[in-house]
Amino acid sequence: MGSRQCPHCGQYVAETLSTCPNCRELLDPAAHAHYDPERAVRARRDIRWGLIWMFVAAVIQYYSGGHDPFLERLPVDILPLVNQYLVPFLFLAGLALATAGAYRRLTA
Ligand SMILES: [Zn+2]
Repeated sequence: MGSRQCPHCGQYVAETLSTCPNCRELLDPAAHAHYDPERAVRARRDIRWGLIWMFVAAVIQYYSGGHDPFLERLPVDILPLVNQYLVPFLFLAGLALATAGAYRRLTA
């Protein structure tokens, strides 16, 4: 829950209050009418899943690309198609999802 500044006395009050507890003036209810908590929850979930996708893509790229010095060869063969197309796509999709979630979080 956020706070906002009272236009009458300048003190910061809770966003959900309709009157200021300091000066007892009415606060504009339209000032926080656009805030949608459901939208903020969905935005946080999108940010989280976007970051998870990016992390999974990085882990797949690290191990299947042979970058781990302790693991000479994976026990299974991975098609070159995975490293060339699927992993970058997964990373970029995660980046797009996280960016969209961050934008929606800022504008919620
Ligand atoms: Zn006030």
